Amino acid sequence: MNQPLVLPLARAAIDRDYLTRTRDEVFAELFANPNARVMPIYDSQVLLVGAVDQPQPQLRLFEPADVPEWQQLVYLGKTSDDSADLPLGSPVILAILDEAQAFELAHKEEWHQLRRTGAGLSDRDSGLFAQSLALANWHATHKFCPRCGSTTTVKQAGWVRECSVDGHELFPRTDPAIIVSVIDDQDRILLGSQGTWKSNHWSILAGFVEPGESLTAAVIREMHEEAGVHVIDPVYLGSQAWPFPYSLMVGFTARIDPKHAQQDLLPDGFEIEKLRWFSREEIAAECADLLLPGRMTISRSLIEHWYGAEIVSATELELQ
Ligand SMILES: [Zn+2]
Repeated sequence: MNQPLVLPLARAAIDRDYLTRTRDEVFAELFANPNARVMPIYDSQVLLVGAVDQPQPQLRLFEPADVPEWQQLVYLGKTSDDSADLPLGSPVILAILDEAQAFELAHKEEWHQLRRTGAGLSDRDSGLFAQSLALANWHATHKFCPRCGSTTTVKQAGWVRECSVDGHELFPRTDPAIIVSVIDDQDRILLGSQGTWKSNHWSILAGFVEPGESLTAAVIREMHEEAGVHVIDPVYLGSQAWPFPYSLMVGFTARIDPKHAQQDLLPDGFEIEKLRWFSREEIAAECADLLLPGRMTISRSLIEHWYGAEIVSATELELQ
């Protein structure tokens, strides 16, 4: 099997320390540790050390006493690397804040979305960001029991919600999606563009795995639905969390079935408006004018994996 790709949001340096979650008074115990740090999150935004939009952002972590109020705490785990700011084994606790709490802690302008710049995070901060955002998004949308509609309460250091009436337990969910670099017999890559996008904005095709479906079946179905192409031999390339709100992107490459090689591309007109085969020469010639997916996305990694090198596109030129 191929070595999986190294992906921006597949990195981490946290021991999730599952067993500690079940202890009574877990947060009091963790906060008593002098190396404990709190990571605040508000409306999918985090606080950074130093200026925003820097190429290598660093998450701003607080001592517990400096974050006095929150809506919800979640124990993320303990650091598994030794860094200048935090020794190995330091517990990190997520604090989910509401608007008043967030703006009490920091000015509105200091809260920052990392969707465009998060690829420059360290391994530790990348893992903390993906884990925190997915958990905060899950908590925000699972306040009620799906069986009876009663409120749910939080248990196990933020990793379980339980119905207050029937005891039904909810666990944080992850929604799998496949994303595929489709390659033709001339070694070109298939990119698509959505109707609402600018005309020079292209990405790889992707879709959610449906209930009762395998990953490879989803690859074959989605490529036929979105592009009218028949693909064969899906090969796994790597996966990464995509916490918007709590997906897991599973990356594949697949070839066009030679029996259908002459078939026209057929955009579904719903998700995908335009489709185009790109050769490496065309990417090289046009990249300064192309808006490709940002560096934090698996889509960008799959395109560059096929291309064989880093691509500097209009996406990065805009950020400079
Ligand atoms: Zn219930």
